[in-house]
Amino acid sequence: MSLRVLKVPLRSVYDMIYSYFIHKLTTTLAKNHSQIVIEDLNVSGLIKNGKLSKAIADSGFYEFRRQLTYKTQLYGSKLIIADRFFPSSKLCPKCGQKKDKLPLSERVYRCENNNCDWIADRDYSASLNLLGLAEPDVMPVEMKTPKSINEAGTNKQIMSNIV
Ligand SMILES: [Zn+2]
Repeated sequence: MSLRVLKVPLRSVYDMIYSYFIHKLTTTLAKNHSQIVIEDLNVSGLIKNGKLSKAIADSGFYEFRRQLTYKTQLYGSKLIIADRFFPSSKLCPKCGQKKDKLPLSERVYRCENNNCDWIADRDYSASLNLLGLAEPDVMPVEMKTPKSINEAGTNKQIMSNIV
């Protein structure tokens, strides 16, 4: 009996696993959520940024969005894409105050409004701001009125980009 060895480049294995993961994730999201909000990242602009280019190129964001677009249509859910200029990371999800600058190195969002005590993980805060773009009937009670976004005057611009 002879032993046969199948040689598969590691990169191919990685690509197969990653492809399977994106497929599985987008199917699960589209099947189990009536609305999904994602950011419209300026991917080509980010790729020009030397520090981020490899991470963005490897992230499969294009494929993730492509699959999410057709799967939400297939399963009857709604994909909401936040305008690329929506300042999800710079807005306080509690009071709506917007920071002028928020460097990537700053991972915790601390509201600068003296009347607000919001301190939370930067990505978590951004996700709450994105949640505010969903239609009210699916949001938790405390998030039903995305006042912060309306008061910031950005809601109209964002909602115009619904797929
Ligand atoms: Zn605040």
